[in-house]
Amino acid sequence: MLDHPNHPSETFSGDRGLDQEEPLLFEIGRADVTGVDIDEPEPFTPRLGALERTAPIGLPGLSEPETMRHYVRLSRKNYSIDAGLYPLGSCTMKHNSRLAEKMARLEGFANIHPLQPQATARGALALMEELSRFLLELTNMSAVALSPKAGAHGELCGLMTIEAALRARGQAQTRRTVLIPQSAHGTNPASAALLGFTVRAIPAGEDGIVHADAVAAALGPDVAAIMLTNPNTCGLFEREVVEIARLVHESGGYFYCDGANFNAIAGVARPGDMGVDAMHLNLHKTFSTPHGGGGPGAGPVVLSARLAPFAPVPFLLRDGDSLRLVEHAEGTQSFGRLTAFHGQMGMFVRALSYLLSHGGDGVAQASRDAVLAANYLRARLRDVMTQPFGDRLCMHEVLFDDAFLKGTGVTTLDFAKAMIDEGYHPMTVYFPLVVHGAMLIEPTESESKRSLDRFVATLRALAESAQRGETERFAEAPRHAPRRRPDETAAARRPVLRWGSRQ
Ligand SMILES: *Cc1c(COP(=O)(O)O)cnc(C)c1O
Repeated sequence: MLDHPNHPSETFSGDRGLDQEEPLLFEIGRADVTGVDIDEPEPFTPRLGALERTAPIGLPGLSEPETMRHYVRLSRKNYSIDAGLYPLGSCTMKHNSRLAEKMARLEGFANIHPLQPQATARGALALMEELSRFLLELTNMSAVALSPKAGAHGELCGLMTIEAALRARGQAQTRRTVLIPQSAHGTNPASAALLGFTVRAIPAGEDGIVHADAVAAALGPDVAAIMLTNPNTCGLFEREVVEIARLVHESGGYFYCDGANFNAIAGVARPGDMGVDAMHLNLHKTFSTPHGGGGPGAGPVVLSARLAPFAPVPFLLRDGDSLRLVEHAEGTQSFGRLTAFHGQMGMFVRALSYLLSHGGDGVAQASRDAVLAANYLRARLRDVMTQPFGDRLCMHEVLFDDAFLKGTGVTTLDFAKAMIDEGYHPMTVYFPLVVHGAMLIEPTESESKRSLDRFVATLRALAESAQRGETERFAEAPRHAPRRRPDETAAARRPVLRWGSRQ
């Protein structure tokens, strides 16, 4: 492995301490090796009409211990919230309690099958109803669609619900524009474009929030909806949200709220009171449950009374003592079905465990602690790093720009890579796009003060090092990672997904 590209081969083996170099299965496998020992079959006459393969199938052969080591070594390269602070902004990487994990592994939930007759899954339906009750209480909304499998999927679901409501009004053809602030997450315009809507960008004010007059100027009879994130991706609460909702409704549009940042306000403020018509909740962010390489997501969408009739199937219907899942849209105003089955059961169990173990007061406390932690970082770092939009309190994430690196030759990317050498996963960088060299940090409520202090000390040391002109450590970073600087754009645009097709 000594000549592996982009790898610091300071040791003979390519391993660095106990961080072992791990080649691809195709590099270490041999065609003549197998993990199982099977007798040669008796001679037989093939029945595939001469279509059977004659060339080797090209799968790598490994013994069982080799296979096991390969995957265990790979797993150790995974950074996770269980390994350390994970400051990605907008992603809410919080602690996932072992209690929730234990609940999700209960046999009745873990081994449930989506095609099982409803009568044999009553407990699961009751759990889904209980979770729905919590989500509706926290948001003050009327209905919830549980089936979307991620935040982005929830956006699609919300916009499809809005489209169905417009169709019922005979305006699905005329209202084809969706208003989206420039600071929005990329999934917002992508969801709108996927459904054939035209996106009209709304600029934010100098203070980082969207102003009602900018929305008023963009509204018209062609507008289907606005998609607004609150708190927004700059970590600021949209203070004019109620007036914005009023204007959108007055002009005949709907208000979709991106709820990815609900961790700042859960239990403290309710989207229903802000005039929201549809909003996704990332269960894998706000309500714990592993994500980021650690598990599937879940993006239930809460709906206002105006949109509730158009929600997708399946939905839960309670009739006295009986609870059933309505699976077919016929005879209802539902826009139809979004996914094959009912949603991510394991995530529902974890989210409800989170909610029950926190209680109402605990959920509000978690939000307040998340906001406090972000402001603590802000207060401890603002003399060495720079904030856009002035020296203001933030919500649950703190945003810095790259003005403090000006003239140092160090970029936001270099700074993030240097954090890897220090044992930290970088924060979210270059997002939101409206801020130059953005660094968005979300510590969440799970970090102790000791953990935050260590993080602060590290960031201060790096900022001071950059300002002293020690550019080399940044240009070379990361020096201690399994790989240095892969070409991320090429990796995303031209991924090599098949061994052997490499050019
Ligand atoms: C994470 C996020 C999304 C998308 O959610 P996924 O669950 O990753 O699909 C949308 N908007 C914002 C602001 C987010 O942070």
